[in-house]
Amino acid sequence: MRELLPYLKLYKKHWFGLSLGMLLGFATLAASIGLLTISGWFLSAAAVAGLSVAKETFNFMLPSGFVRGFAMGRTAGRWGERVVSHNATFKLLTDLRIFFFQKLTPLIPGRISNLRDADILNRVVADIDSMDHVYLRLISPVVVGTLGIASITVLVCWFDERLGLILGGILLAILLTWPVIFYKLGQRNGQELTQNRADFRITMLDWLEGFSELTLFGAEARYRTAINEAQDKLINNQRINAHIAGLAQALLMLANGWTMVLMLWLSADGVGGQPPSPLIALIVFATMASVELLMPIAGAFQYLSQTLSSARRLNDVILAEPDVVFPNQSAPHSGEFSLDFDNVTFRYNADERKAVNQVSLSIPAQHKVAIVGQTGSGKSTLMQLLSRYWDTQDGEIRIAGTPLKQWAESDLRAAISVVSQRVDILNGSLRDNLILAKPQASDDELQRILINVGLEKLLDAPGLDGWVGDGGRQLSGGEKRRIGIARAILHDGPILLLDEPTEGLDKQTEKNILALFQQHFAGKTVVFITHRLVDLDHMDSICLIEEGEVVEHGSHTELMAQGGRYFQLNQTL
Ligand code: ADP
Ligand code: MG
Repeated sequence: MRELLPYLKLYKKHWFGLSLGMLLGFATLAASIGLLTISGWFLSAAAVAGLSVAKETFNFMLPSGFVRGFAMGRTAGRWGERVVSHNATFKLLTDLRIFFFQKLTPLIPGRISNLRDADILNRVVADIDSMDHVYLRLISPVVVGTLGIASITVLVCWFDERLGLILGGILLAILLTWPVIFYKLGQRNGQELTQNRADFRITMLDWLEGFSELTLFGAEARYRTAINEAQDKLINNQRINAHIAGLAQALLMLANGWTMVLMLWLSADGVGGQPPSPLIALIVFATMASVELLMPIAGAFQYLSQTLSSARRLNDVILAEPDVVFPNQSAPHSGEFSLDFDNVTFRYNADERKAVNQVSLSIPAQHKVAIVGQTGSGKSTLMQLLSRYWDTQDGEIRIAGTPLKQWAESDLRAAISVVSQRVDILNGSLRDNLILAKPQASDDELQRILINVGLEKLLDAPGLDGWVGDGGRQLSGGEKRRIGIARAILHDGPILLLDEPTEGLDKQTEKNILALFQQHFAGKTVVFITHRLVDLDHMDSICLIEEGEVVEHGSHTELMAQGGRYFQLNQTL
């Protein structure tokens, strides 16, 4: 149960709505029980009165008034309770999702990269949804049930103490045993259900995302079968759930029936020591109505283990410590955005070789340096260290003279513009895809930049409103890269990191893109990562990396004159 603590804390903020919901729930219940009890008594009392002299004096008006009142109260109460408690739970879920997101984002891209997208999605959607069970299915019914049992006991005790205590005792015993029995019965199935629901979504998303690839390889049917299997398991879990819920209700009805028989037998000789009277009907109907108290509790506890396993899955995320923690405020730094790597060493996993090994490199402000090296030599890692995706295990990186760890995240992001190796296009309009780099940019500015990067074709109707990415216009590799460049121009940080911006493009496009850089990035500190040795003579310096180590560093002419590795690589091209 400790798993639920972080979520119960969120309840505090909504205590008013949640308590009001329970109060209305209780009022509705009281009206229901009152209705059944009074009508039971009223019918028999009226019948008895009709047969005796009391028919002249019997007050029909008052009890009928109560019956009407309770009937209306029950309807209004139920409506009010639903509105209030659902409103409160939806607000609670909203908070919970925001809370989860706030915990999730600092974990990206570190540890959480082990989780699959579909799995995270499932946690955000389904597991958080399960958390409303805690209130709607567990807390609220138990609180309302306990209050209800207390009141019905007091009510019956008022007529006959012995009967009241017996009824209260039986109801309390049911309230205490049913949850335990049905929690145990539903435990394994609930855990499996949470797992199978996640598996189902994961296989489903795999299939959806890879549909065209799967079809081409003839593997689509196999993946579809996997979905069906996952679905069958989930349906089976749900069937067991339904069986258990049915069993809980049936046993409750049975217990209620036998209690009624018992109460009838006990009260048959008269209630409260008086001769038999219509009060017998009141007692029996009160017993019958008491099942309403327990109905919501009967099957609810089989969901407890489901909720607990969802809470555990959420806790994996919310209790995790982020790998990288940013300070709230940056330490002062100079206005000159130089970059320094000081003996930087990094490995992704303790047992792997070092992706970056003792790199020392100084890049003065406004210098343009090319980092070259073969695929897998650690170039992208170096750039990610600079953007603080991960922290170095050894050594230090400084930007503008200030250690990277003393930069607040917002300042760091503002200082660095990145064109990453894989430009992600979000599902949204072309405008959405651009303004993420500069939210306040005007349409005019966006259009001008699109023309600058050679994407004027995209400005034809529907223009900036056109949908790109999934479900919209698909962009070619070169176009995506240009969008990435447009974003970097918009973002306009004093430091620019380019990770193989021309990889996979044809010669002409590559030339155009390189020309764009010349034009837009004057006056910035530029780190240009590439494995293609094209057009490097106009960079201020070139740094050659092999297996995570700096092998050579100098200007193009110097390195060519040296006749070392860089020279050799140039020769082999
Ligand atoms: P480059 O950009 O020069 O091609 P990378 O910096 O991407 O090379 O990779 C350097 C090394 O680190 C490679 O051996 C690669 O397999 C490994 N690597 C890269 N990213 C990860 C990661 N997220 N987890 C584990 N290893 C990684
Ligand atoms: Mg790379």
